Amino acid sequence: MKPAIIPRPADNSLLRSRFGPLTRELVLQPADFGLGHLPDRLRPDAVTESVCGFCSTGCSLRLHLRDGAAVGLTPDPLYPVNLGMACPKGWESLAVLDAPDRATRPLLRDASGRLRPVTWGAATAAFADRFRTIQRQHGPDSLAWLGTGQIVTEELALLGAVAKFGMGIRHGDGNTRQCMATAVTAHKESFGFDAPPYTYADFEASDIIVLVGSNLCIAHPILWQRILRNRRQPEIVVIDPRRTETAMAATRHLPLRPKSDLVFFYGLARLLLDRGVVDRAYVERHTRGFTEFAAFLADFPLERTVRETGLGAAELNGLADLLADRSKRVSFWWTMGVNQSYEGVRVAQAIINLALMTGNLGRPGTGANSITGQCNAMGSRLFSNTTNLLGGREFTHPDDRAEVARILALPETLIPADNSWPYDRIIEAVDAGIIKGLWIVATNTAHSWIHQRHLRSVLGKLEFLVVQDMYHTTETAACADLVLPAAGWGEKEGTFINSERRIGRTRKVRRAPGEALADFAILHLLGEAWGCGEHFRRWSSPEAVFQLLKKLSAGRPCDFSGIRDYRHLEDALGIQWPYPKFNASSEERERRLFSDGRFFHQDGRARFIFELPRPAPEAPDREYPFILLTGRGTSAQWHTQSRTAKSAVLRKLYPEKIYIEVHPDDTRDLGMAAGDAVEVRSRRGALVATLHPTTTVQPGQVFLPMHYAETNRLTHPSFDPYSRQPAYKSC
Ligand code: SF4
Repeated sequence: MKPAIIPRPADNSLLRSRFGPLTRELVLQPADFGLGHLPDRLRPDAVTESVCGFCSTGCSLRLHLRDGAAVGLTPDPLYPVNLGMACPKGWESLAVLDAPDRATRPLLRDASGRLRPVTWGAATAAFADRFRTIQRQHGPDSLAWLGTGQIVTEELALLGAVAKFGMGIRHGDGNTRQCMATAVTAHKESFGFDAPPYTYADFEASDIIVLVGSNLCIAHPILWQRILRNRRQPEIVVIDPRRTETAMAATRHLPLRPKSDLVFFYGLARLLLDRGVVDRAYVERHTRGFTEFAAFLADFPLERTVRETGLGAAELNGLADLLADRSKRVSFWWTMGVNQSYEGVRVAQAIINLALMTGNLGRPGTGANSITGQCNAMGSRLFSNTTNLLGGREFTHPDDRAEVARILALPETLIPADNSWPYDRIIEAVDAGIIKGLWIVATNTAHSWIHQRHLRSVLGKLEFLVVQDMYHTTETAACADLVLPAAGWGEKEGTFINSERRIGRTRKVRRAPGEALADFAILHLLGEAWGCGEHFRRWSSPEAVFQLLKKLSAGRPCDFSGIRDYRHLEDALGIQWPYPKFNASSEERERRLFSDGRFFHQDGRARFIFELPRPAPEAPDREYPFILLTGRGTSAQWHTQSRTAKSAVLRKLYPEKIYIEVHPDDTRDLGMAAGDAVEVRSRRGALVATLHPTTTVQPGQVFLPMHYAETNRLTHPSFDPYSRQPAYKSC
């Protein structure tokens, strides 16, 4: 493979125009890297760039190549996202590719129950034979797939197209259901399309930054660095039950009771209403439903908010006074503390309502902004062909189906007219014996799904489980009947879409080990084995698929038909959608949405959406007196640790064994001490964790990091009714 070497503007004028003189300090020239000291075998002979494959921040990494293969990396100093920074996961991106437990050959379970190596021919034949037999015997609902936000958009689109249009597998969803479904639903209902409105520069242009359920320092450390670059001396307000690393660094922390957030935001809106802090002109011109919302807020007086959130009246009034200053730019940012809730959609919309009523949308430093989790959750949301038809369309709309069929030159009859079942419904259908064959791609369901004991018993009911993954040792791969070895980040080509809608390029800089193949190639092989390969001849390479995706995006809110090709993405340092063919200005480097006040509903107006709060599905009682909170542990850990646990450097940055954070008052009452091994039980299971007394949790609450395999033994399977996202955060 011959890597491209990308020319950069010699005077860095692009960055200077965007970030001002500050950036000059960060812009390094190749000679500044000081690579001369490296031994010969590591001294690069070329350099290329690739967007990181862990989180949705979408940092660019500069890969140092020798004989065409990456031997090291440094953060890209020119990329407008990370400006020369990377978190520990990014720095260790190459190390995790070298793990000894990489899946290198297809494995098929034999009659004795053992997984044995087979050829790709035997593996793809087994896939097609077993799945076709199940489909023939049990009907079209008997197969499903679960995808991911971790593979490139081109592969996600091919997966969804081959599965649904080629193989007739009706039901598919992805692990994005576990992180972003709530934000997706909130955006669609409030804005008319799943469209996070912001650009990262808003972190630097804001006067008041309100972080809700977001431990940015840990979960999105480079975005925290962007806040630190803000020269406006911003107020940083953290709304979170825990005194997280971010709360400690904030100017204000409001430690509300877990899951009292809906009352909190309605109470705050009421305080703003009482202060007359409503941008009437904005509300009248650009929204619908404010009169009803204002009447609804009558039920949320200060006394109720104090009583239900546990916060003091002075704290609440203080925040309302802060937000009442109309001269300030206010931005609201939320992540999993909101999304992973049984009423997360309404909480997200309560945040959107605040931005709408105060006119804090569409201007620099403002917005109701959901921060995404996985590196390509945004690509998955637009093109995975699971619960949305390609390009954010609807399966149930005949015009949408006809348009997709025309663009892809497919018979319209191949496009189903019904929506897929969401993830939880797929698991229920396996449990009920309706789904008998399941294909899991690049996600670790047996570790990450809520109420793990139940999930594992459900997987055991499948007649055929296929797992396509980089590693053959994940908890899910261990349950598989067929393991398909996949290439990882750095071993294949494509694009990711980050949190701020920036499409960025990721590249092949290593050969996948053994017989592992890019998911793109695996999908083509499976399509051929199934007999539907002729439908996907035009999907001949990732870049050919990118050209199809451009066509699928044209005329949609996510239109990026103006992007010429991969080379254009590289030269422009990533491009945010929308970037339509005829209106895109190459000078316009920041694409913030809604600057004209027009939203994506047909009437162009955003909606105020609200609903009465509901009690938490599982409240503490005498038998189970603590509330369990879960979340990210450190910036060195990623989700189920299939990858991050493979790096010796990253492993040094977090405790090897699961630990539980408990308030010292509670540990004293329980007669326990730091370092004790304690049993933690919920109604669904138990685990043993090392006790870590800390005042970062409130009395009566305990915290477990999500990354350890044991954590989901305890979590409660409740779901937001609109987004079907699991409520991991509290039980
Ligand atoms: Fe950047 Fe996220 Fe990669 Fe860290 S994991 S380097 S923050 S993209």
